[in-house]
Amino acid sequence: MPDAGALDYRPGQYLKLLSRDGRARSFSMASVPRGGRVDLHVRRIPGGAFTDGILPQMKAGDAIDVELPLGSFFYRARDYRPLLMVATGTGLAPIKAILESLMDDPDCPPVSLYWGMRQPEDLYLHADIPAWGERLYDFRYVPVLSRAGAAWQGRRGYVHDAALADAGDLSEHAVYLCGSPNMIRDARAAFLERGASPAHIYADSFTFQQDG
Ligand SMILES: Cc1cc2nc3c(=O)[nH]c(=O)nc-3n(C[C@H](O)[C@H](O)[C@H](O)COP(=O)(O)OP(=O)(O)OC[C@H]3O[C@@H](n4cnc5c(N)ncnc54)[C@H](O)[C@@H]3O)c2cc1C
Repeated sequence: MPDAGALDYRPGQYLKLLSRDGRARSFSMASVPRGGRVDLHVRRIPGGAFTDGILPQMKAGDAIDVELPLGSFFYRARDYRPLLMVATGTGLAPIKAILESLMDDPDCPPVSLYWGMRQPEDLYLHADIPAWGERLYDFRYVPVLSRAGAAWQGRRGYVHDAALADAGDLSEHAVYLCGSPNMIRDARAAFLERGASPAHIYADSFTFQQDG
């Protein structure tokens, strides 16, 4: 973003891409603010106006308007508690930005990250994520696949079920949920039953946008 100067946003927040004809789509910043550059993780939706239409047509140097910062999904340092982070798909993006902001931070709480996808090849950052733990105080990464073939040695099923199976009482945790609206609905209900406090559950639901 060459004209923007230093970007100012809280890791976890999102931006809107705006098309010339007035449509808008939301994407979460996947990196901490660093100068005028931002990373996004974009899932291509077959037939999607932006992700399958406008974005693949763009070349380096083309311009598109953006609006930021938006949203209230960001890390609350004041409630220092172990973090249980659960993402599906590109819901990893804002969680990655939050975790980047906690790297080398002496006040980083213990973090468990559960990332749900369908197949092993969907785990687009799988090889990189374990190294995040070298710069986080206490980091556990658990990928969970819902449609893996026989070769997959890791966890299977729904990602929030895997997190629940490993968790004990959640009353002292802060829970960050991001990705599919169904996962967020089901995880919230299940984690509340396990003692999670409604005041310490933060969620960013990747709903689909209406044109206009
Ligand atoms: C706060 C917020 C942050 C988001 N951050 C990200 C992000 O970081 N990365 C990312 O990839 N997405 C993110 N999304 C979701 C993304 O904005 C939508 O998927 C968007 O609709 C895609 O735009 P499109 O123009 O390509 O598809 P559209 O033209 O909007 O949709 C085309 C068709 O596909 C369906 N559709 C759209 N999105 C999905 C989906 N995710 N799953 C299944 N069907 C879908 C629609 O219902 C419609 O029928 C975010 C959404 C919100 C609300």
